[in-house]
Amino acid sequence: MSFVSPGIRQQVISQAQECCEYCQTQQCLIGMPLVIDHIIPRALGGSSDRANLAASCYRCNLFKGAKTQGIDPQTGKLVTLFHPRKQVWAEHFAWIEEGTQIKGLTAVGRATVSALKVNNDYAIGSRQIWVAENWHPPDI
Ligand SMILES: [Zn+2]
Repeated sequence: MSFVSPGIRQQVISQAQECCEYCQTQQCLIGMPLVIDHIIPRALGGSSDRANLAASCYRCNLFKGAKTQGIDPQTGKLVTLFHPRKQVWAEHFAWIEEGTQIKGLTAVGRATVSALKVNNDYAIGSRQIWVAENWHPPDI
């Protein structure tokens, strides 16, 4: 069990503008706090240093689990998942379908979209409502 202090936890979430750093879901829309993701999981030796921490929604964190790699569905190759501290979201992902789905622009992006199931039916259903209300996508 790792320990992330409340201060660091708040810093990570604030710096992420209270959005999941994988699917950009805003904390205010999901009815529960964002969680702190160890980008390199503790189980694989990842530290609790700031450089290894990201704000994540519960869904992304659940599906990410202890993964650091995923299959790029376009090539079938195993590639690393998106690293929020080392990579820029907009270089690997884009909103499509009027902001209700995330498209992976790169092998990293495609593998992350697939592994974290960011376009599952429930996520899309929520985003359709948020988009209709102009609450989403966040302006990051
Ligand atoms: Zn997420």
